[in-house]
Amino acid sequence: MNCAVCGGAVSQVAEKRLGRYRDETVEVESEFLRCEECQEEFFSPAQMSAHIRSVKNEIRKRYGLLPPEKIVAIRKKLELTQDELEQLLGTGPKVVVRWESGKVIQGRGQDNILRLLDCDPTIVKTLRQIQQLRHNEQDKYQRANKPNPKMVAQAV
Ligand SMILES: [Zn+2]
Repeated sequence: MNCAVCGGAVSQVAEKRLGRYRDETVEVESEFLRCEECQEEFFSPAQMSAHIRSVKNEIRKRYGLLPPEKIVAIRKKLELTQDELEQLLGTGPKVVVRWESGKVIQGRGQDNILRLLDCDPTIVKTLRQIQQLRHNEQDKYQRANKPNPKMVAQAV
């Protein structure tokens, strides 16, 4: 790979660099390429992904949020798939997948529940009961609010 600016030879370096996430700036150790001729610095696509992950991990530390590998460890301890954990937490699909890959940072509320589950795995059972209860309440609501065919006909 050669420098996109001057065509000179590039070498890989690892140094501290600033990274941004929303309104936050953090300093992380990142690998990137530097031109030996003009000193231009740039990231390869893989280095950029790694840099972004490091920035998000640093933000997690700043806010006291669990790192991705800890989320994986908690989920495995609970013997849940990513999909099952998403259902239990009531997140959208692929949300746990993104937390675990480091792409998305979990909110504090979700982080609290993950920590609760880590402290007391029996909470899985309680969350399942809550899911069932909600399901029953929704069923009951739907039965009680079934549209009256007569009223629908009149409305038309
Ligand atoms: Zn150059």
